[in-house]
Amino acid sequence: MKSVVNECPLCQSRNQLEFARDKSRVYLKCLVCNLIFVPRNQLVSNIEEKKRYDAHQNSEEDLEYQNYLKELLQVILPHLNDYKLGFDFGCGRTKLLGSLLNQLQFSVASYDLYFFPDPILLEQKYDFIILSEVIEHLREPMLEMQKLRSLLNPNGKIFLKTQLSPETSDEFNHWFYKRDKTHIQFFNGHSLAFLANALKLKGPQELAPDVFCFMG
Ligand SMILES: [Zn+2]
Repeated sequence: MKSVVNECPLCQSRNQLEFARDKSRVYLKCLVCNLIFVPRNQLVSNIEEKKRYDAHQNSEEDLEYQNYLKELLQVILPHLNDYKLGFDFGCGRTKLLGSLLNQLQFSVASYDLYFFPDPILLEQKYDFIILSEVIEHLREPMLEMQKLRSLLNPNGKIFLKTQLSPETSDEFNHWFYKRDKTHIQFFNGHSLAFLANALKLKGPQELAPDVFCFMG
């Protein structure tokens, strides 16, 4: 492994190793926060990214997608206390997760950079914020998470669904999650803890193998 100079998008360190490489990208591992990330000069364009999301088959009628969201809800619901106001950040093409929660007496707003980009929603306050398979896509994860943190009411929670990265380069090379070109960083327990600490939140509390909670 050789060192490569490129700023970590989570902790801004330049202390890193080349962790893996495939025919389209390099994956650097930050030696400070442990984030594995694609150098920012190797990202797909916004147009390419939108095309990729358009191809996702996540329609409201899709039973598989409904079940996927219902499973996520089962994990999160016991941790919603007496919360009311929620925010589904990066909801994708549908507001289905928000609708399911709204049927349960919550009041959830849904935002998506490409499909529902209502800037008003980034000025309101919420009791809980959900990012379901979103954090691995963010171009500036620390800045964007800090922005979301500023929208959280006292004692609020942030729920993150993301796959944790394998620890070895060999396992990483065979990992399905890195094949999606819009996935541009990958967390492990250490990098999630670094993020929680930077946001002055407690956590991560692991609610399921791929669902984590940060608590205010
Ligand atoms: Zn870092």
